Amino acid sequence: MSSTPVLPDPSTEPPAFADLGLRSELLAALSALGYEEPTPIQREAIGPLLAGRDLLGQAATGTGKTAAFALPLLQRMPDERPTGDPVALVLVPTRELAVQVSEAFHRYGKDLGARVLPIYGGQPIGRQLRALDNGVDVVVATPGRALDHIARGTLRLGNLATVVLDEADEMLDMGFAEDIEAILEHTPEQRQTVLFSATMPSRIDGMARAHLTDPVRILIAREQPVAGEAPRVRQSAYLVARAHKPAALGRVLDVESPTAAIVFCRSREEVDRLTETMNGRGYRAEALHGGMSQEQRDRVMGRLRGGTADLLVATDVAARGLDVEQLSHVVNYDVPSAPESYVHRIGRVGRAGREGVAITLAEPREHRMLKTIERVTGQRITIDKIPTVADLRTRRLELTQAALRESLLEDDLDPFRVIVETLSDEFDLMEVALAAVKLAHEATLPGAEEAAEEIPQVAVRAPRESRPGADARGGDRRPARPRSNGTTQVFIGLGRRAGVRPQDLVGAITGETGIRGRDIGSIEIADRFSLVEVPIAVADEVIAGLRGSTIKGRKATVRRDRDDRP
Ligand code: AMP
Repeated sequence: MSSTPVLPDPSTEPPAFADLGLRSELLAALSALGYEEPTPIQREAIGPLLAGRDLLGQAATGTGKTAAFALPLLQRMPDERPTGDPVALVLVPTRELAVQVSEAFHRYGKDLGARVLPIYGGQPIGRQLRALDNGVDVVVATPGRALDHIARGTLRLGNLATVVLDEADEMLDMGFAEDIEAILEHTPEQRQTVLFSATMPSRIDGMARAHLTDPVRILIAREQPVAGEAPRVRQSAYLVARAHKPAALGRVLDVESPTAAIVFCRSREEVDRLTETMNGRGYRAEALHGGMSQEQRDRVMGRLRGGTADLLVATDVAARGLDVEQLSHVVNYDVPSAPESYVHRIGRVGRAGREGVAITLAEPREHRMLKTIERVTGQRITIDKIPTVADLRTRRLELTQAALRESLLEDDLDPFRVIVETLSDEFDLMEVALAAVKLAHEATLPGAEEAAEEIPQVAVRAPRESRPGADARGGDRRPARPRSNGTTQVFIGLGRRAGVRPQDLVGAITGETGIRGRDIGSIEIADRFSLVEVPIAVADEVIAGLRGSTIKGRKATVRRDRDDRP
């Protein structure tokens, strides 16, 4: 049975962004970003935050928590902001998150003219001083650097309407508790306080009791099983850096060879972009999202059923109620924003006793959300290594062998007998067979292996409990210590702005040293710098090698990562 998805019925559908009371500039920004509907945390948090309530939310990265606090905060920003002192302060545990959260604020608040500034320990203080001096509306800071600026008198908090403590459990684990207390002492008593944390240990509870007033409590990662039994499908996940996701998706499709697959994205924009990318890579992909008319959707579904398309790239809204017999694979291009959404997505396959496969491409940061989904669904998601080019080759040979076996079992080979007999006068039978296999093999996916690129494997970050600095004071001013898993981070003073991609760093390191790609751990690329995790034993060799070479044609500062960088 198969049916075409219909437009959502407004009487039963969850609220849209417009129903949450957001102003038109923000709705326009969300629509331009292709967000089709609020995630569960946004649905629950935006209303109370707009009303000025304090909030205690349990939510991990990937749930959409940033927009959940950023949108109300931008809306509450007064139109006239004469002093230039910030009206909102967001405290985050890491530089990386400071940059991400400010970028999110920029994207949502462009039309409101919001001035947003990330401040963190890795950046020259002079630039921050100038920016603060020019006036800002929202400061996103790591606690250590925020406190430095408060002490210098360059960050004045008297005008604050809202303070957000984001990833509060991480901040406590990194030893920021005292810094946070000290910062809060400089804020007005009448402020709104928002605390988000992926876990709720008693220390977070204590912090909430001390600093939040009658907060709304939101728990997104509910521990009870979700309604309706999750279908029995093979579930796995690959950890992959954002930049390598299209290649990883291609690799997964090549290795899995699905009959037809649906790939879920978070936004319309991503659906369109990915459809184009995958078509460019030789897959027959069709987009399906809420911005399309019923007629357009019908055409897409027709092409999928008729076999002229084999990849459907869709948003959750568009795929609601979709039932297509041919679908064998569901791919989550991003980790879904809630376990319910995961269950809903994988329910597109594995129906009526059919076999189904669900694959999730997760960024290393989203690892915890996967754990939450496992806990809630009570089903295991195995984390696999992204198939290498060698794996692809092996798998393709297996497929060719299976096809040949099938052909041998069928009895329609006679027309070709004359060829083999003729050739066997001249060549050994084995040679003839080998040449035939080669031709058959090459006809399946011409050029697949030659074009295949190696996709860097990324390591799961060490669990918080064993991360260095746990419970040590000082946070972003503490000296770097070796990580407990035998690795350390190397700082490289070039990042996204210089066009640096993970493969450039891997290439530079493996090219300059005796270290192999698989010994390199997680790679973080920020706007202006990158951090690469390497075994402690070879860190000095890596540093010396990189100092002696160029990356993207440029010389870079290279050293062991210290959080008290100038
Ligand atoms: P976060 O959990 O805040 O780190 O957000 C995870 C990702 O989801 C970010 O890339 C956001 O841009 C994206 N996102 C947040 N809310 C939505 C939404 N309602 N629809 C689509 N994407 C979203």
